[in-house]
Formats: sequence, structure tokens, C-alpha cells
Amino acid sequence: IERTLVIVKPDGYSRGLTGEVLRRIEAKGYTLAELQVISPDRERLAKHYAEHEGKPFYEPLVDFMSSGPAVFAIVEGHRCIEGFRALAGATDPTAALPGTIRGDLGRDWGLPVQQNIVHGSDSPESAEREINIWFAG
Ligand code: ATP
Repeated sequence: IERTLVIVKPDGYSRGLTGEVLRRIEAKGYTLAELQVISPDRERLAKHYAEHEGKPFYEPLVDFMSSGPAVFAIVEGHRCIEGFRALAGATDPTAALPGTIRGDLGRDWGLPVQQNIVHGSDSPESAEREINIWFAG
């Protein structure tokens, strides 16, 4: 069965949107296989976001992601990678379609990083790589 790593990012967590995000995942029919609340450390964030190193939003992104607690979930279900990304909507929450998590619950706050509530892995390879970073052992 396919798995994906979902993160309720610090903005989603601090706004009290964790339950709403998890509700949508369960309502879609996916399974929450593992769940943890942690304050992401910069070392693991650097691994997680290695592909963005050097981009202008990289440092602000790591600052934002390490700013407070976040919820990490391993989500399971056939085609859940594609399915969760459809639930999440476009990266830019202003442009994300209504009906999606970002479109319904997100907006632009005028900050250097897109605070867009959730993360979802973009491929099976990314999912396994990211799950190993955050759920080692
Ligand atoms: P995610 O990987 O978080 O599900 P995504 O795949 O839509 O979102 P990525 O391209 O992987 O987006 O970028 C990772 C994160 O970096 C985004 O979710 C967003 O928070 C931030 N980000 C991406 N592009 C920009 C940008 N141009 N300006 C500011 N922040 C950005």
C-alpha cells in the first residue's frame, strides 16, 4: 500500500487546524498509520528540504518550519500521494482552489515564505526518504 508523509506545518498547528486537516484525510478514506507532534529541528529540516538549498526562500523556510510544533503523519492508501496533493491544493494558498485545504483555510500573509498549512510528499521516492527522516526507528 502506498504511503505519504503529511506535515501540518507550524502555521496550521498554531491556528488549530490539525483536526480539520486530519478530518479531511480520514474523510477521503485514507488511514493515519502514525502520528506525532514535534518541533522540527534544523538538522532534519535541512535534509527534508535539501532540494531547495540555495533558493531565496530556503532560509526563511527553515526558520518558519523550526518556529514551533508541527504534526507529522504517515498516511496510507492506494494513490494517497496524488490524492493528498489534490486535497492540499496549489502551493500558493491565494491561488489554491476553494475545496482544497490551502484554498479553504490559507491565505497570503505578506511574508517571505508561503505559509501554506500542509506538506505532502510528491513521489513514492520522496515519501520514503521523508518518512525515514522523521520516523527513523
Ligand atoms: P509542499 O512540498 O510543502 O507540499 P509544494 O510541493 O507545493 O509544497 P515545494 O516546491 O516543495 O512546494 O516547496 C516547499 C515549500 O517551500 C512550500 O510549501 C512553501 O512553504 C515554500 N515555498 C515554495 N516556493 C516558494 C516561493 N516561491 N516563495 C516562498 N516560499 C516558497
